[in-house]
Amino acid sequence: MLNKTMQKLGEERSVIREIFEYGNRRAAEIGRENVYDFSLGNPSVPSPACVREEIDRLLNTLPPEVLHGYTSAAGAPDVRAAVASYIHESFGVPMDANLVYMTCGAAASLTITLNALAEEGDEFIVLTPYFPEYRVFIERAGAVCREVATDARFHIDIAAIEAAINEHTKGILVNSPNNPTGVVYDEEEFVALGKLLKEKSVSRPIFLIADEPYRELTYGKSVPYPMNYYENTILCYSFSKSLSLAGERIGYIAVSPMATNANDIFSAVAGAGRSLGYVCAPALFQRVCAKCLGRSSDIKEYEKNRELLYSALKEYGFTCIEPDGAFYLFVKSPEPDAKAFAERAKKYELLLVPSDSFGVEGYVRISYCVARSTIERSLPAFQKLAKEYFA
Ligand code: PLP
Repeated sequence: MLNKTMQKLGEERSVIREIFEYGNRRAAEIGRENVYDFSLGNPSVPSPACVREEIDRLLNTLPPEVLHGYTSAAGAPDVRAAVASYIHESFGVPMDANLVYMTCGAAASLTITLNALAEEGDEFIVLTPYFPEYRVFIERAGAVCREVATDARFHIDIAAIEAAINEHTKGILVNSPNNPTGVVYDEEEFVALGKLLKEKSVSRPIFLIADEPYRELTYGKSVPYPMNYYENTILCYSFSKSLSLAGERIGYIAVSPMATNANDIFSAVAGAGRSLGYVCAPALFQRVCAKCLGRSSDIKEYEKNRELLYSALKEYGFTCIEPDGAFYLFVKSPEPDAKAFAERAKKYELLLVPSDSFGVEGYVRISYCVARSTIERSLPAFQKLAKEYFA
């Protein structure tokens, strides 16, 4: 009667959402200020001024049928042109506006891209730990999600990827800066990955799908632009995190102009967008983002949060890697079962996400895009939690 796969997906909710909902229930019981919810990656720093200024300007100048009307399915032509020029000027890629498709955030960018590429029997590689929705998106596109481990520092393990590639491999998803580890991949990693994918694209291309919602959120480290290292790249971008516009659902797909049959790939992207109902991304925010390309919310605020939490947790005895980007700390669970550790943390109203849903065991993710005061107030709770393990 119903699509059972969909029903199950709807009923089981993501682990992250589950914890977030628990936090809301707890907040109703004991007060929001007494719950330290580090579950969601919902930006806390205000959007840069250009967002508000452009919204005001558009509201005051555009006629209603343009302001709130449909754009072309792939996006407003001037917005697509602005994105293409930005990519050209910033990263040296001769991007063509006809290869840019405006979307409802990275989730839509990814689902459209996967549906555009996937044929029966195809596999897509994801690098563990990974954003849990990748599996949902890949499987919905009718393909197989193949997990490949990263190295001990959570960087790309070329040998492991090489071992996993087979005749069914259609693509690999990479996410840098990374959720959940905060790792930013180095240029050499992209060089090596590009070389490997080129070698392995024997009978058909293997696509590099670069998921980049955190591109601008880095703490001093530069983020290599994937298209410069491998021609068959499709970039899935989102303004959710960079401009703190997560709820406005806006992003884009850019197909590399160097890709083999780039125009055909774009047609498949447009077809997938059409068949999924992802046409004409939110019109107002397409235009707002076109004026704020490359900008970001005040990264210094996240940097301060990072330093406060990272140094405190280390002092209390926890082990974690210092993140170079995004706004997550990936902390080693002091007991083998990260779920048990996250449960214990709840005793102190600390809401942490166990790493099992990211495809690895033994860690928790702490999202530090929260108010500074939440972090400050949470520190005694972390200290008490640490004492249970390291006293
Ligand atoms: N990809 C990664 C790695 C993410 O962390 C997220 C959101 O947290 C998404 C994709 C989805 O982003 P959006 O809200 O733009 O759909």
